[in-house]
Amino acid sequence: MKKILTIVGARPQFIKASVVSRAIAQTSGLQEVLVHTGQHFDANMSDVFFMQLGIPRPHHQLDIHGGSHGEMTGRMLIEIEGILLAERPDCVLVYGDTNSTLAGALAAAKLHIPVAHVEAGLRSFNMKMPEEINRILTDQISDILFCPTQTAMDNLVREGFSDKPVQLLQVGDVMQDAALLFSQAAEHTQVSCVEGDGFILATLHRAENTDDPARLAAIVGALNTLHSSVASVVLPLHPRTRAAIAKAGLTLDVQVIDPIGYLEMVALLRRCALVLTDSGGVQKEAFFFGKACVTMRDQTEWVELVQVGANTLVGADAEAIVSAARANLGRMVSDDGQLYGGGAAARHVVTQLKRVFHAV
Ligand code: UDP
Repeated sequence: MKKILTIVGARPQFIKASVVSRAIAQTSGLQEVLVHTGQHFDANMSDVFFMQLGIPRPHHQLDIHGGSHGEMTGRMLIEIEGILLAERPDCVLVYGDTNSTLAGALAAAKLHIPVAHVEAGLRSFNMKMPEEINRILTDQISDILFCPTQTAMDNLVREGFSDKPVQLLQVGDVMQDAALLFSQAAEHTQVSCVEGDGFILATLHRAENTDDPARLAAIVGALNTLHSSVASVVLPLHPRTRAAIAKAGLTLDVQVIDPIGYLEMVALLRRCALVLTDSGGVQKEAFFFGKACVTMRDQTEWVELVQVGANTLVGADAEAIVSAARANLGRMVSDDGQLYGGGAAARHVVTQLKRVFHAV
């Protein structure tokens, strides 16, 4: 039996890990130990996902959140190292691009424990993004790089990874697995305060938007204009964005709701007429649920969606946001299952882990 120690801490990681944990539990030869760093800790940013998605209770629950990036990452590094020394796993599995990802990978690499990175190879080529720093460094110290897309594979080949003694594997995107797996469960999920369809589903939380007063003001202005003149805008508001908007003295005149669980999110994705976001995951979920997406960023790691015309990048330019939203409202897009692996990613991850570690 091989021991896989999984590290999660932030909302998108709970969703990604849910499908892989499920696949690990359904196979022989692998045992999973789950560590939650505490990076996201509110009930509606953490507990709800464990409940709705059937994620097992973490074996180790840390309480590390807030503070600067350095402080948070440093505290995680110290505590994760202690857990790794006690647990002695055969492999550490990390997801995505958060401080929890980097701290987990670094603690493991220094102890010579193999690191497997799910969502390897994504690049925005914007080194101002904390996520870009986290993902580049995590890839550099990973032994197994699970790429979600051909673009991610190409990025790593360009960076010389095919000449390194690592496993470079294209497995598809585990978020598509989650979208397919939980879609049916969400079919009858109600979101009490959101009626009808035809609305714009918006999310906003990226530091490059929330921490830049000019960008934040432009986006808030665009959302207000859309809500008053194009279609109602439903915005499950991330706690960080709520704080940034209050600090900047801005007023949101849209339908603001608290962050919702994944099933509620899927229910809204199914019903909405457009997705307007700066999230990485939500860009793809729009596509999985057949909706056009307008992305309020200057770059995206998911370039294939722009290439196939499903996603429009508009940055934080108020006029561009409003006109792209107007132009794309109600436009459907179709996924032929090719770009993101069609829902088999978690199965591939587990098969490869078993192969690499000779798990029986
Ligand atoms: N999400 C959710 N509830 C919300 C907002 C987002 O369940 O109120 C989900 C969303 O569907 C996606 C994931 O959270 O699966 C994306 O997380 P986030 O946007 O925080 O991070 P990113 O993908 O940008 O790293």
